[in-house]
Amino acid sequence: MQLKLHWQILIALLFAVFIGWLVSPETSIFGVSIVSIFDFVGKLFLNALKMIIVPLIVSSIIMGVSNLGSGDAFGRLGGKTLLYYVVTSFFAIMIGITVVNIVQPGIVDGTPAKEMLGLSEDTSEVMMKVEGKSAGDVVGIFLRMIPTNIVKAASEGQMLGLIFFSLLFGFFMTRIKLETQKVLQTFWQGVFDVMMLITDLVMKFAPIGVFALVAKVVVISGFDAFRPLLTFFFTVIIALLIHIVIVMPLLLKFIGGVSPIKHYQAMAPALLTAFSTASSSATLPVTIDCVEDRAGVSNRVTSFVLPLGATVNMDGTALYECVAAIFIAQAYGLDLTFGTQVSIVILALMTSIGVAGIPSASLVAIAIILAAIGLPAEGIGLILAVDRVLDMCRTAVNVFSDSCGAVIIGRTEGEKGILAA
Ligand code: ASP
Repeated sequence: MQLKLHWQILIALLFAVFIGWLVSPETSIFGVSIVSIFDFVGKLFLNALKMIIVPLIVSSIIMGVSNLGSGDAFGRLGGKTLLYYVVTSFFAIMIGITVVNIVQPGIVDGTPAKEMLGLSEDTSEVMMKVEGKSAGDVVGIFLRMIPTNIVKAASEGQMLGLIFFSLLFGFFMTRIKLETQKVLQTFWQGVFDVMMLITDLVMKFAPIGVFALVAKVVVISGFDAFRPLLTFFFTVIIALLIHIVIVMPLLLKFIGGVSPIKHYQAMAPALLTAFSTASSSATLPVTIDCVEDRAGVSNRVTSFVLPLGATVNMDGTALYECVAAIFIAQAYGLDLTFGTQVSIVILALMTSIGVAGIPSASLVAIAIILAAIGLPAEGIGLILAVDRVLDMCRTAVNVFSDSCGAVIIGRTEGEKGILAA
């Protein structure tokens, strides 16, 4: 009997932590450094997942919207989806802001911890990316929503633009002659089906890919990086856990009327992939697979809710931005007035919608928030050492929330077969 995929991935993950712990960044075999081997294999897996994203997002949204039929259904499903995204992200932010204010990880023995924490050594690369960001950049994020050139948007991974175009395309596809409409529908359905088959193939290699990705992180970050930042690290983890094991299950149970345990089981491969890749976009094919095949949500709902959610709905990211910005502000000794905290909440909500589902995307958003509350971008240096592992955790939360959205919306649309078995 073959071991189920999520067990294979989980074992690979644990094995990766063990091997990563044994190996040092300098270790090499036959003159080739082990880290570079991990890096190579991990990249191959990530590339394969990313390769699927553009055709998958486009075909699935176009199918999703055109299947909705009348403008009414589109409006209703769209309205529910947006409401779900905003409400859950807001819950997540509230949890983050409460926990970080109670724990106060940026203050040690009553004094701001900036000096004690010290900035991580090499921040130059990240600084180049985030330097000079300001609240005005939020506008830039939303400007890209209407791309001047969809091919360029696709090649640069600007999903918001691609989503917007696909929504329009799907919507107007239903307004053309029936004969031509049918051709397009068959075509996009075909593209979607092929992408899902390619996903199945790529997932066969998931245990190897996950092993390489996680082992690399463990070798590079090491366990020492965490020590000075333990309180911050656990503040984020506790807040994320509250969201994913208390808030989300309550929504699943009381609004969706389904068993949260069954949903966790159904989503295991997607959660582990999100954790290992730290990218909601790269995980999207797996998320769709799990929500449709394992949780039993209709293609009509999944193909609309999930591709949108992978870019727009990021509960873990919103929560993290908030905790990180307040932690940095505490560490710098900034007086956090009620007004400042409100602006952090609003910016976290807006940037979490705009940032891409790729690794470390939050850092740019945090730089925007820091600028808005009058702190230097270098503040980010305080959290870099633990960012990657927290990125893995928040991405799993992002993906989980998307999947809960699909289940809850499916149920409110009257679907009976969800998580029924
Ligand atoms: N890595 C996250 C994601 O893909 C985004 C972030 O918070 O950096 O969902």
